[in-house]
Amino acid sequence: MTPLTIGFIGLGNMGAPMAANLAAAGHRVTGYDVAGTTAEGVTQAGDIEAAVKEADVVITMLPNGSILRQVAAQTITHMKAGALLIDCSTVDVESARNTSEAAEKAGFLSVDAPVSGGIGGASAGTLTFMAGGSVDAFAKAQPLFDIMGQKAVHCGEAGAGQAAKICNNMILGATMIATCEAFALADKLDLDRQKMFDVVSTSSGFSWSMNNYCPAPGVGPTSPADNGYKPGFAAELMLKDLGLSQQAAEAVNADTPMGALALELYRQFVEDEDGRGKDFSAMLPRLSARNRDG
Ligand code: NAD
Repeated sequence: MTPLTIGFIGLGNMGAPMAANLAAAGHRVTGYDVAGTTAEGVTQAGDIEAAVKEADVVITMLPNGSILRQVAAQTITHMKAGALLIDCSTVDVESARNTSEAAEKAGFLSVDAPVSGGIGGASAGTLTFMAGGSVDAFAKAQPLFDIMGQKAVHCGEAGAGQAAKICNNMILGATMIATCEAFALADKLDLDRQKMFDVVSTSSGFSWSMNNYCPAPGVGPTSPADNGYKPGFAAELMLKDLGLSQQAAEAVNADTPMGALALELYRQFVEDEDGRGKDFSAMLPRLSARNRDG
């Protein structure tokens, strides 16, 4: 494709490798991060204006919805006519819709396109994008999704990408806890962990958490459990995503009891115990160390 000029805001764990992949594919990428971080092949800008004013496409990869709203307001002021805004952060559905409305009002196409696949996927260019926005906006963004990822699903109008992301991660959080508590129970029943894996991974209890990201060290494919539960996907990021799904559930009055309990368990683990900085699969040693009384 013809090289594009891309402004990339937020060069953290995810944004830096994503921006580097776009540069490696031949695009002119200018990046800005408040922390002063940069990425391979990416020209560093001193502020948001410098990063976005020449850009055909602006991509944001930021920590949360309030930062996104603030950055998007500044970005939109300086974008050139005809440019496209793609937000890849995981944020609340409201902030995604608000950003899309602000962009549209100023005459820009926009897409909310959160990702799944983690830091490994960002580096390897194998992320999955779940996108919300118009057909035109999605079509314009797709060639860039193809560079940074292996799959992009157009989920619907603005906010639909975030909706898909938080529903997926609500399943993931609850499934990881269920997988971990089953291992902890199996231990107490003197069932060998490898046997447990051999059975469940090929039976109706199988899941991505069991089969691809097994929380028991030495069992199944290599996962953060084999690396002292170093993330991976940190427990605090799972807590964030479960919080977003409960926020959304409250907003639309949806009954999500498993999601609510998963949020509470990760909240305890991260805020009251020693879960911060550990992979979200470290729920297994947490549960193993407990009994029914706590
Ligand atoms: P990160 O904290 O490493 O990166 C965010 C970056 O944004 C930081 O470098 C920070 O300095 C920068 N930033 C903050 N405010 C800014 C501002 N006003 N202007 C410019 N830059 C600013 O986080 P991450 O792990 O890269 O995650 C980014 C997003 O992707 C989050 O929404 C996260 O939930 C989501 N996500 C992360 C993962 C993962 O495995 N890390 C996976 C999927 C989705």
